[in-house]
Amino acid sequence: MDKRQTLAAASIAVALLVLGLKGTAFWLTGSVALYSDALESVINVVAACVALYTIRVASQPADAEHPYGHSKAEYFSAVLEEVPFRRRSSPGMLPADEPP
Ligand SMILES: [Zn+2]
Repeated sequence: MDKRQTLAAASIAVALLVLGLKGTAFWLTGSVALYSDALESVINVVAACVALYTIRVASQPADAEHPYGHSKAEYFSAVLEEVPFRRRSSPGMLPADEPP
């Protein structure tokens, strides 16, 4: 496992830790705000898992089907991880915010 994969795996561990802390905080307090924040953290866990997977794919050497290597796989990860952030940061994209 190279340095990028190690750091991506560590980011999964941190995302799971944060999710667990927020879930525990919700469980102890019953706060809906903490529940919402914990659910949002699920996206971070998924994004970290996608990042690790694509880093592993990108680190594979060139083969017959991909003579220029697999490094472009990381661009797919970047797009996949950008979509949830765009949805959260662009209220106009949500169906409930569309004008009648
Ligand atoms: Zn290949």
